[in-house]
Amino acid sequence: MKNDDLAYIDENLHIIKERCAEAVAKYRSPDDNVRIMAVTKTVSPEAINHAVELGIDLLGENRVQEYLSKADFYDKSAEVQFIGHLQTNKVKYIINAVSMIQSVDSLKLGQEISRLAVKNGRVMDILCEVNIGGEESKSGITPTGLKELIDGLSELEGVRVRGLMTIPPPSDSDIFLGRMKELYDSISSAYKGIDTLSMGMTHDYAEAIRYGSTLVRIGTGLFGARDYSK
Ligand SMILES: *Cc1c(COP(=O)(O)O)cnc(C)c1O
Repeated sequence: MKNDDLAYIDENLHIIKERCAEAVAKYRSPDDNVRIMAVTKTVSPEAINHAVELGIDLLGENRVQEYLSKADFYDKSAEVQFIGHLQTNKVKYIINAVSMIQSVDSLKLGQEISRLAVKNGRVMDILCEVNIGGEESKSGITPTGLKELIDGLSELEGVRVRGLMTIPPPSDSDIFLGRMKELYDSISSAYKGIDTLSMGMTHDYAEAIRYGSTLVRIGTGLFGARDYSK
């Protein structure tokens, strides 16, 4: 594939950066930094590497198997974080392959990450995934269970809780983004080392920045519609 065929990524990234800068200018302090993560599910390594060449320095992986099958072809200069639902028995495959796990929603999962991190002589940064809309179809801890979960995770060796991640319900997202901001503010004042609020996807990243996001996760807005048949 020639890079000409990937020119849409250049255009999309330009638009995303512009909209992020606008949202920061409008709603945040000038020195606030919002990181852009490129979400790679179903995307070819060629397209991913093209985005990295354009300056993307953070990739988000959803599926363990898909990541492992593509990782060898990745430009290794970008940081990789895990953002998908993670089964306890699959932690071992990614413990040394990612710099953060954003989708921790149970103490059991945290304990397995801790066990393997210690075994591998490393510390894993983690975020707690919050099911802010209380949707049955989604993973994530409920807002009411969050403090207990963070208390438990804080006791573990080899893991460091850095903040919160969420996928708000698609409708009324303003309300839920606002609730996440409140939750994040209360967590950051109650615990040390909290510096990451991962929220905002293609349809709501500008709004998410308004509500304090520090990391937006963009898939289709950057790479185009996903083709699950490949
Ligand atoms: C797919 C995915 C995204 C990106 O979604 P888009 O709407 O394509 O931007 C972000 N976060 C998570 C957890 C995802 O699974």
